Amino acid sequence: MNAMRDHIVEIADGIHVRVPSQERLHRILERAAAEAEDKPLPPNQCPACLAKKCPVSAEGSGLYDCVECGAIFGECYLARSYEIVKPRMTTDAVPPDRECYFDFTCLGSDQKITHRHGWYDPRTGLITQIG
Ligand SMILES: [Zn+2]
Repeated sequence: MNAMRDHIVEIADGIHVRVPSQERLHRILERAAAEAEDKPLPPNQCPACLAKKCPVSAEGSGLYDCVECGAIFGECYLARSYEIVKPRMTTDAVPPDRECYFDFTCLGSDQKITHRHGWYDPRTGLITQIG
């Protein structure tokens, strides 16, 4: 299991919460500090694990694939984002180490949805957790 991955903890019968790994928590705090100083992340820095200099994704030129956690993120048209991560939740019990983070800034002026993010199953393209 990847050290950057979150832990899934059952806090009550059937109720699971996602707890960031210590490494990710550290990066989240780093990012919060950078944002407080009004220094936005570079476009190729992973918003999930904050790995830097991620390569452009084969899925599209405005998108990046995280080398550490497998996240996909960046800018693309809403329709393109739906091709990668479908606008539907999975009904499968997806193991946490198979989930990947997604974070799309959706382009196009005639739409209400400008940002989609959460976790999905790359094998099916279905959402496992929104936000
Ligand atoms: Zn990452």
